[in-house]
Amino acid sequence: MTTINPYNFVPLKSKEPDRSLGYTGKLRLKDDHYSGKIACILKALSPLITLDQSRKDVKNKKFLRNNRKTPILQGASIKGMIRSVYEAITDSCLTFAATNGTSGKDKIPYRYADLGNYLNSKCNSLEALCPACRLFGAIKGDTLNCQGKVAFSDAALVEGTLSQQKCCLKELLSPKPHHYATYGKCGHPGSPVAGRKFYYHQGKTPSFSVKETPSNNRSIIIEEYAPVESAFSFQIYGENLTKEELGKLLLAIELLDGLGHKIGLGKAIGLGSCCITISREKSSITKACKRYENWNTGAIGDWYSLKAGREELSEGLIEVLRLNKAEDGTIRYPDYREYKKEPFNAPINALGVFVGTTLNGGRPPGTDDVAESQPQEPLFKTKQGENAARPDEVAVAPPQEPPPKTKQGEDAAWLKEIYKDKLVFMDTQGKEVVRSRKGYQGKPGLLEAGKWFILSGTNSSRRA
Ligand SMILES: [Zn+2]
Repeated sequence: MTTINPYNFVPLKSKEPDRSLGYTGKLRLKDDHYSGKIACILKALSPLITLDQSRKDVKNKKFLRNNRKTPILQGASIKGMIRSVYEAITDSCLTFAATNGTSGKDKIPYRYADLGNYLNSKCNSLEALCPACRLFGAIKGDTLNCQGKVAFSDAALVEGTLSQQKCCLKELLSPKPHHYATYGKCGHPGSPVAGRKFYYHQGKTPSFSVKETPSNNRSIIIEEYAPVESAFSFQIYGENLTKEELGKLLLAIELLDGLGHKIGLGKAIGLGSCCITISREKSSITKACKRYENWNTGAIGDWYSLKAGREELSEGLIEVLRLNKAEDGTIRYPDYREYKKEPFNAPINALGVFVGTTLNGGRPPGTDDVAESQPQEPLFKTKQGENAARPDEVAVAPPQEPPPKTKQGEDAAWLKEIYKDKLVFMDTQGKEVVRSRKGYQGKPGLLEAGKWFILSGTNSSRRA
């Protein structure tokens, strides 16, 4: 059966975040802006866990509760979950994302292309916020304190009861951004990041627990969880939203039939799938101009019709939010013994499947132009509007074998990317060398990414 990686990335759109709107703030209400309360029900579609972390000394963890002892999901977690979808809808900045650093306990260095205008740090003043920072807020030390225009209550359990069942969770791995096969767009160092990370839904009954043994003492032991069909109630308070903001927020909250959110612990092992429905009769949205006239009649009846439609969701986003994803294959991390073997060290494609040594097209379109920002003048300029920037083939990793011996006037370099009109090599000093594809002298079948070639003048060839 097909192995599907537990997460995938939604490609960035080829533009940059729109930072042109400025921030209206919460207090000066604009006449044509919307304010009010959106009441929501969150329903668990797979077992759902948020931990009570208050007792560090307790090994077996309980579900988080408020001071009335009702099990809750924190407003901050719900906000983060809805924000990540809103960011993808509005092509906002990437709030996570360090493009280089070290990963894991072995401190393995990793390096991706600069995120350019997608950097969260570019949302650095009230006048220059991306759509998501404008709506959900952005706080940067002493220089920027924008609280955003929406606030989220905690969600309290209103339907169902917690399952009291002690389980030892499968080990939760920390993110490993040095895995270029999954985090990178092309699977090699220096390539752009693949986009916005989301975990796939694994169905109603994921296998999330293991037998407790001394060897898995790093695992978390829980005593209770919210079962499928349990429901939580919460409210979102919005102030001074534009029509467009409200419409896209409603879509990010409620999504479409067949799509779901993920919240809480253990997303990679299938926990936390949920869907949200907006309770229209318990919500109330007013338009500022009417509110001045009369607080009671200021409420408007047709606000729900402002909800944005399917066209705002990219294909990549729909794919990662699909609730029936588990029908496509087995969703799991490759075993560490498999990791070094093909195809598991190869990039994942748009469907989360590991796909052999090279990637043709790969993830859904739209990822180009974002980065790969080479400071030097490109050798082969492409006509504007012509999508010639997409490589036909991309190497996953440098060759394992040492470079071939060269004669005078020749250089060894391995082939990184094959384009329609050009070949991009890496020389032995790690420098990128671009040659025209016409300058390749050899059998077409030997033109293979990830192999050593000999460069001589403007020509390239490969010794079989
Ligand atoms: Zn931003």
